[in-house]
Amino acid sequence: MEGKTPTRRVAVVAVGGNSLITDAKHQSVPDQIRAARKTCVHIVGMIQNGWDVVVTHGNGPQVGFILRRSELSRHELHDVPLDSCGADTQGAIGYDIQQSLHNEFRLRGVDKQAVTVVTQVLVDKDDPSFRKPSKPIGSFMDEQTAIERREKERWDVVEDAGRGWRRVVASPLPKEIIEHKAIKTLVDQGFVVIAVGGGGIPVVENDRHELVGTAAVIDKDYASALLANTIGADLFVISTAVEKVALNYNKPNQRWLDHLTIEEARRYLAEGHFAKGSMAPKIQAIIWYLEGGGREALITNPENVERALQGKTGTRVTRE
Ligand code: ADP
Ligand code: MG
Repeated sequence: MEGKTPTRRVAVVAVGGNSLITDAKHQSVPDQIRAARKTCVHIVGMIQNGWDVVVTHGNGPQVGFILRRSELSRHELHDVPLDSCGADTQGAIGYDIQQSLHNEFRLRGVDKQAVTVVTQVLVDKDDPSFRKPSKPIGSFMDEQTAIERREKERWDVVEDAGRGWRRVVASPLPKEIIEHKAIKTLVDQGFVVIAVGGGGIPVVENDRHELVGTAAVIDKDYASALLANTIGADLFVISTAVEKVALNYNKPNQRWLDHLTIEEARRYLAEGHFAKGSMAPKIQAIIWYLEGGGREALITNPENVERALQGKTGTRVTRE
């Protein structure tokens, strides 16, 4: 195992949904492994260029699949609580990425090993989002089922713009990465770590100071930023479906951005240039990362990660 040499630097790379599911026709597990491999080619490229990498990822669709299976087998099997869905998907997606990295390492003669850390993330049980759950999860239901679930399971349910009813859960802010010491130690020892999958398994502290899982969803970009700050990462990369961030996105006067200062990022975010639920949380996560001591963040798509690191593309965000 290659040890950490003084020239190596640490990057947290948050990979987006497109690194696992490319389109609706390619959602099977083998499809997801094939998709993961494509992104891992570029992560290994980064590693060969001297980066120690921690990979984080989303899990929205994969949690949806588990909930759907659970729904269909209700007559026979127990429900899977949401925190357990988080753990299941961290393991399964971690495996996809671990194996993809392993195979790419062997192909390129890189002496590295990847390891997944099932990660709990502490949230505040008084986080305001628990009073107003708004993150939709699972399949659509008819009104009768929705009301039944509200009464019997105490779910929060909402009518979603005429498309049917859905369960909604809280989306609290991440406060602490519980396994951060294990992650840091593994990185320092030269392992490529996969962590905070799906934003981490949300846990709260009960009156006896024990951790307990909670039915909530943490934004993966927020959790990735907190992890990057906690382990003192030199760089925070958000790999997603766009090569660069734009002002007036998808409008005739759209303008792609090469560089943003934290000040500009705050201003454009406030002006509404970044869509809620997609680009806005990424920009917010980057602002928190830079405010928390981070020096540099980068947004681009998987295929351009190495070029973006050479300054050839992507949107770079720095403090000044
Ligand atoms: P991920 O799975 O990587 O988190 P998201 O769909 O949540 O992906 O967020 C990335 C998406 O944000 C892009 O694919 C793009 O469609 C959208 N987006 C919204 N606003 C902007 C913007 N101003 N510039 C670039 N992309 C934007
Ligand atoms: Mg997203």
